[in-house]
This record gives sequence, C-alpha cells and structure tokens, in this order.
Amino acid sequence: MFASLLVTVALALFGGVGAAPQKRAPAQVYRKCTVANTVALTFDDGPHAWLYDISDALSAAGAQGTFFFNGNNFGCIYDDVNVQRIKYAYDNGHQVASHTWSHKDLATLSSAQIHDEMERVELALQRICGVQPAFMRPPLGNYNDLVLEVSGARGQDVAIWDFDSGDSLGASAQESINRYDEVASQHPSSILALNHETIASTSEQVVPYAIQRLQQAGYRLVTLAECLGQQPYQWVGEPQTRDSNWTC
Ligand SMILES: [Zn+2]
Repeated sequence: MFASLLVTVALALFGGVGAAPQKRAPAQVYRKCTVANTVALTFDDGPHAWLYDISDALSAAGAQGTFFFNGNNFGCIYDDVNVQRIKYAYDNGHQVASHTWSHKDLATLSSAQIHDEMERVELALQRICGVQPAFMRPPLGNYNDLVLEVSGARGQDVAIWDFDSGDSLGASAQESINRYDEVASQHPSSILALNHETIASTSEQVVPYAIQRLQQAGYRLVTLAECLGQQPYQWVGEPQTRDSNWTC
C-alpha cells in the first residue's frame, strides 16, 4: 500500500509520461533575463553537428548555455547521433528546452496542432534525458494568444531574446562578433542571446569570441533558467531505454 501511495504521489507531482496536460494560465513570455549580470547564450534548431564544440567551449570557460531542440528539422531527434548530442548537452549541465517538433510557424496552427508540435518534443526529451522542459521557444519567435494558452496548459513559458547574433539572418561571423562587441560595450544589466547551433561559423568563431568578450565584461554565462531565477524543468526523472517507439 505504501508503494502504491508513492506511485500516486509521484504521479500527482510529476504528471507521469503522457499524462494529460493540466490547465494553467497562459504562458509568460520572457524577452530578457531578470538576474543582473547574467548572459544566457541560447542555441536553436539542433541537435546538430556543432553541439559538441559549443558545449565544450562553454564548459572550458566554466559557462553554461541553453539548447532549444527541434524534433525533426535538420534531422530526426531519435537518430542515434542526435540522441548522443542531446545527452552530451544535458550531461554537461547545459539546459535543454523545446523549439517544437518541425519548426512550423505556431501562429498559423490550430490548438491541436500546437499541442502536437510541443508534445512530441517533450516526449523525446523525457525519453532521452528524463526531463520535462519548462521553456519553449516558438520557431521564428512567432506566437499568438493561442500559442500562449497551449504553452501555458503544457506548463511551459515562452522564451524570446533581446539580442540576436544574426547568424540565421545571413550575418557573417565577423558581423556577429561585432554585434557581441557592441552589446558588451553597451553593457546592459543582462543579455538573452539568440544563436543557432546549425551554423559552423557560430561554433568555430562566434561562440569562442563571445564567451571571452562577455566574461571579460564581467558577466556570468548561465542557463536561461538561471538568468530568470527559474527552474529549467517541470520535473526530472530517469532517461528511458530506446525502444521501437523512438521514431520520427
Ligand atoms: Zn529556429
């Protein structure tokens, strides 16, 4: 009976895998960090090949970053190489979060479609890392009231940014570096920075430079959750073992 009580409590606390989302208020939208003197370097559109270099550059500097993963954008999240990349980011203390399944513009979708785009990534992160993410970044930064309603119902807040390296908009590595120079010189209280882990020059040139420049400017490079004084996950459990359901 005690064991079944424990299960009941665990289910009540953690919702359980695949449990119906609880009704909540619409998601909050965060455009800025709230903790002074922090920078959150965030990386969208992976898992991708440059994740290891970005993770290692952060770790070597005593820094942490945040990866907003897609389920099926550049590749399937369940491909073994991608599972290994996600585990690597998580195991090295970086935050993992949802960029939704297939990088659709959520503002054009129905409630059921938005739920589906979100749920499939959540399930993947539950399976691969054993976590339920607390943050979602809508593709292209696009959202409407329905997106906030669905996201809130799924227990996730929406993370935008207040600094764009420009790497997905065609900025060269030097242009992105110049943007980091500029913002470091302006020295705002905090920086929530958008980057893409799918771009080689971001990994090879921009990230190493940005880490050094921002640390020299006196910032702490932390996860998105830490720069907001929030928890990164709705719950943390154990990773699962691959089975035949791990498919895109
Ligand atoms: Zn994206």
